Amino acid sequence: MATSDSAVDVVIVGGGFAGVTAARELSVRGRRAVLVEARDRLGGRAYTKDHDGHPMEFGGTWVHPLQPHVWSEIDRYAIETETFPVLEGLRQSVVSDGRVVDLSDDDAARALEAFDEFCAPGMTLFPEPFLETVGPDPEGLGERSMREQLDTFKAEPALRDWVEGMCCLVAFGPLDQSGATEIFRCYALAGYSAAQAMAALSATKLVKGTRELINSIAGQANLADVRLNSPVRRVIQTDDGVRVELESGEAVSAPTALIALPMNVLNSVEFEPGLSEIKQTASADRHAGAGMKCFVRVKGDIGNVSIVAPEAQAVNFAVTYDHGRDGSWLIVFSANPKKLKMTQFDDVQGMQTALQPLLPGVEVESIVGWDWSNDPLALGTWCIYRPGQLAKVLPDLRTTEGRLFFAGADSASTWRGFIDGAIESGYRSARDIDSYLTS
Ligand SMILES: Cc1cc2nc3c(=O)[nH]c(=O)nc-3n(C[C@H](O)[C@H](O)[C@H](O)COP(=O)(O)OP(=O)(O)OC[C@H]3O[C@@H](n4cnc5c(N)ncnc54)[C@H](O)[C@@H]3O)c2cc1C
Repeated sequence: MATSDSAVDVVIVGGGFAGVTAARELSVRGRRAVLVEARDRLGGRAYTKDHDGHPMEFGGTWVHPLQPHVWSEIDRYAIETETFPVLEGLRQSVVSDGRVVDLSDDDAARALEAFDEFCAPGMTLFPEPFLETVGPDPEGLGERSMREQLDTFKAEPALRDWVEGMCCLVAFGPLDQSGATEIFRCYALAGYSAAQAMAALSATKLVKGTRELINSIAGQANLADVRLNSPVRRVIQTDDGVRVELESGEAVSAPTALIALPMNVLNSVEFEPGLSEIKQTASADRHAGAGMKCFVRVKGDIGNVSIVAPEAQAVNFAVTYDHGRDGSWLIVFSANPKKLKMTQFDDVQGMQTALQPLLPGVEVESIVGWDWSNDPLALGTWCIYRPGQLAKVLPDLRTTEGRLFFAGADSASTWRGFIDGAIESGYRSARDIDSYLTS
């Protein structure tokens, strides 16, 4: 059955922050949109799930005032934020040379200095990070991986391992597959300051979860219809409009469509005519973000810890989410989940083994989270371009093709790969669609 409501201006495919923000912005401009989302919820790679009395973020979590688009939305809806991890009594450590090295305040300051030194090329490569211009690159850094960049970096072992652990956290994929430019860009966006970059990447979260923010934005989107549980199979453009076909056999038509899908899944939808070669290749190659984030319940009170580990370790970051006598919750990040040697996502024994170098003797009880890399609607985590990919795929990934417009964190101008980038792209695509429909 085909739905063709002549009052509908645009079909939005994908209900993450990009699609939902565009929906609200279009309705503010008096445009009517139908939002089509494959999952049973909005938010996409930002997913707050209640578990054990906590609103756990299985995906996107941290936000910061240095990220202007998301911060403006937080302010607009008076969303409550909090510092996380809790700083009081925080024990900071790094796994170096096979042992856990605790960092004093002085050590932590020196680790930031080492990070400043590592990221210094960001100053010349991204002289105007908010304008998406790339500066001179005589050394060919744009083609270099984080691994290659690390191989040229000298510092005392514990500080070097800490910097490598930070690379694992930013890349969230194998370092030889992640572009060095991606870490330089975050550094540049954070005012060329390691301390500010750390704050922007991992210091502030939403008390009730990203769910509150996405619901607030969606609440002001005056949509013609929201179709959850509706995977899109095919998108056909004609001279008169766009027909979006669902796997259910139904179809929705409108003069325009906004494709707000992750870069890695673009090829799982059939487009007629086909998308640009660059979009198809980018989707086939995928970005490098393929790590695993999960919440791990462990026995006893492990205290307030934040432990970073270099790439040789299966776990590259473990931070206390909650702790008490009856047990603790850790948030665990692995940049290369193959190293975890877990038989399945909630393999308690596999996780227990992987955590020993960070927390000797720790006993794992259970694991919850989301396997984004094997989720067919994401096929990856946050967007981290491969070496050379930045120059090849931007800005084509967001270039309009006929009546098809494109949005998403993966092709944002500034905080690409972040919730901020998704919102930025929602603003831009709504403006573009409105002008197209007006002209
Ligand atoms: C583990 C993890 C941790 C992260 N941590 C942070 C963080 O701390 N801070 C931060 O700012 N960002 C973080 N991010 C990144 C951030 O969550 C994403 O960049 C952002 O949410 C992406 O928004 P989007 O709208 O572009 O894409 P998505 O959220 O992926 O939205 C796309 C939507 O399209 C839907 N879809 C896919 N295929 C189809 C189809 N065929 N038909 C219909 N719908 C379809 C999907 O279900 C999804 O809802 C993290 C991401 C992950 C995975």
